[in-house]
Amino acid sequence: MSEDCIFCKIVSGEIPAQKLYQDELVTAFRDISPQAPVHVLIVPNEHFANLGEMGDAQAAALGRIAHVAGQLAAQEGIATSGWRFITNIGADGGQEVVHTHFHLLGGRPLGPLLTRS
Ligand code: 5GP
Ligand code: ZN
Repeated sequence: MSEDCIFCKIVSGEIPAQKLYQDELVTAFRDISPQAPVHVLIVPNEHFANLGEMGDAQAAALGRIAHVAGQLAAQEGIATSGWRFITNIGADGGQEVVHTHFHLLGGRPLGPLLTRS
């Protein structure tokens, strides 16, 4: 638990969120500002700044996140149409919330991975 971390507070229940899944390792909830018809965030319950801070000791949580992503994609009805699973790291990556999270996006064609700036 990191003080003043929004996602730690969502994991603990201190801040409300539309949770779709939670177990001892990970939590999944709908993004408050969805960029696609399906936009779910999947996070490790333990606080890490980003994927670069996670290693072998977190393999179980990372594996669970990947598994839960597939399960939720099916549950949300986008397993066949397709989906994207991304994590932003640091300033250039566009990371705003400093607690590792993966975006599960789908429900419309998502276009190219990157836009030219
Ligand atoms: P990032 O840019 O860090 O990869 O993504 C952060 C995501 O967290 C954004 O898509 C943003 O809409 C979402 N977000 C920020 N604050 C909250 C919140 O309080 N609740 C929920 N459910 N999502 C949030
Ligand atoms: Zn946190």
